[in-house]
Amino acid sequence: MDIQKEVKEIVQKNLPPETQITSVEMEGPEVAIYTRNPKAFFENENFVAKIAFELKKRVNIRTDKSLLSEEDRAKKTIMELVPESAAIKEIYFNTAFSEVVIEAIKPGLVIGKGGETSKEIILKTGWTPKILRSPTSNSKVLKGLRNHLHKYSAERKKILQETARKIYRELPGNNGWIRMTALGGFREVGKSCILLETPETKVLVDVGVDVANQDQPYPFLEAIRFPLDQLDAVVIGHAHLDHAGLVPLLFKMGYRGPVYCTVPTRDLMALLQFDFIDVLTKESKESPYTERDVKEMLKYCITREYREVTDIAPDMRITFHNAAHILGSASVHFHIGQGAHNLVYSGDLKFAFTRLFNNLDINYPRLETLIIESTYGGRDDVQQDRNLAEEMLIKILKETMHKGGNTLIPVFSVGRAQEIMLVIEEYYRKGMLDGKVFVDGMTKEASAIHTAYPEYLRKGVQRRVLQNDSPFTSELFQEANGKERDKIMEEKGAIIIASSGMLTGGPSVGYFQKMAENPDNTLIFVGYQGEGSLGSRIQKGLKRTPITENGKTRELSVNMRVETVEGFSGHSDRHQLVNYVRNLNPKPKRIIVNHGEKNTAVEFARYLSGKFKINATALRDLDSVRLK
Ligand SMILES: [Zn+2]
Ligand SMILES: [Zn+2]
Repeated sequence: MDIQKEVKEIVQKNLPPETQITSVEMEGPEVAIYTRNPKAFFENENFVAKIAFELKKRVNIRTDKSLLSEEDRAKKTIMELVPESAAIKEIYFNTAFSEVVIEAIKPGLVIGKGGETSKEIILKTGWTPKILRSPTSNSKVLKGLRNHLHKYSAERKKILQETARKIYRELPGNNGWIRMTALGGFREVGKSCILLETPETKVLVDVGVDVANQDQPYPFLEAIRFPLDQLDAVVIGHAHLDHAGLVPLLFKMGYRGPVYCTVPTRDLMALLQFDFIDVLTKESKESPYTERDVKEMLKYCITREYREVTDIAPDMRITFHNAAHILGSASVHFHIGQGAHNLVYSGDLKFAFTRLFNNLDINYPRLETLIIESTYGGRDDVQQDRNLAEEMLIKILKETMHKGGNTLIPVFSVGRAQEIMLVIEEYYRKGMLDGKVFVDGMTKEASAIHTAYPEYLRKGVQRRVLQNDSPFTSELFQEANGKERDKIMEEKGAIIIASSGMLTGGPSVGYFQKMAENPDNTLIFVGYQGEGSLGSRIQKGLKRTPITENGKTRELSVNMRVETVEGFSGHSDRHQLVNYVRNLNPKPKRIIVNHGEKNTAVEFARYLSGKFKINATALRDLDSVRLK
């Protein structure tokens, strides 16, 4: 039966006439119910809960268009209802959704106690508030992105309706097979990409790029033997380039379908994709896509929260679970073929304490196959205790300061940067460190995005962000960019935090070239260095490297002190990965290892087989496996 009709019938059967429903619409995996009497829903809060339970979908109650008051008047009413201390930054109206977007520094005050203020706004203006938190420091990218989504809200509505038609299309039969194909990121770190197929459905999970790989930086998209318009969905676990870097390329190639991810993943991946284009352009290299493709992608993003079950195809349902790796990062649970098979794609995961995130999820309703990362799955991959790591970092920083040298910490602008900033900020606050700290690259923007989504952060950090005392936007961190770089080099005892993390491009490379020859300076690696990257080669003892200066090439000697401090990684080490598998509930029947260098992945799979008596394999790129 037609889903629209079916949903309508359920709504009519379960809601009393006084709710005055005027229309019921599918918007992607969600249901929008339009009413002429929103008050009825406030008087009986069970209505929404009951209908959401019956439909097993997220339900949005909206007022009928005839009740929407004129925009200027509505704006005035909202300003009167909301206390000034909420610090409203923006108000805009999305007519297509009967929705008013209110962006404020203190969203809680727009909602009011028990949602009272929000309800008043609906009753007095007809518009349903969608409340967003403003970042506590300016983020050009976030502002641009939110405006962009607003500008295209009518088109988004159409996209969602079209998506709903595909998700809830009729299934001819359901005794099918399930197959996964490795398209990238197997026996290697970088360009993660998996194709999941049933006779009915085709889904891509992650579409990354390998920035450290000159020969084969893209996943094997050419191995997809069907036109991209047959793809049902793209699912993205987290924002890092090796997982989401090439999503806009799909749009350039003609894909026009949903991209499922969490809200922070959507924003951070757009930030990193813009940066990716920027870095390539500055190096006179060709980017695989343009900003236009990123913006097109954004229109198709459907964001979900952790643990929210979402239909993405007639025979496939997904749920995002906290992976504690970076802001918004998720392991994805796939419920395939009416429960015929349950797959968990771990994505990059941290099974240990971090300052930034709550502990990752280990409980799943059902689980047959686990795809697990193995970045640090090698026998010798032991990360030292977090406290020791912090002590070691501080010790190196102090030693360099005493010598009058500067320290460069190359970081991924999302994840490691914030973790390191938190540590440094704390030691400064306690008076245990001094000197200037400069932050360069996308890190400031990325940090600002962290402050827009405090609910994704661990309690202590969350509280500080909510009190407008965000550690990331502390005055301690001075923003640096192009012009100031030479001046910073005249500093003594400064700390420079700059992207990229593996010295594959961006400002960290510029600083490295300026700092490398002075033995008083220090370079500290705190994150993963991909095979072949400049970072990895320096870590392994590279002493000379050619650089181009004013059009001439010369040898650069690496005289600076080079250190690696393990323990800040957003990845689990061998011990943590094994513990993760041990603690998973329920136990998987089969394990597929990815996202690790060849020897690491193969050996880790062998170890898991022996340890847990489970079929565990390290697939190669282009291998296909029948899951059922
Ligand atoms: Zn990652
Ligand atoms: Zn990764």
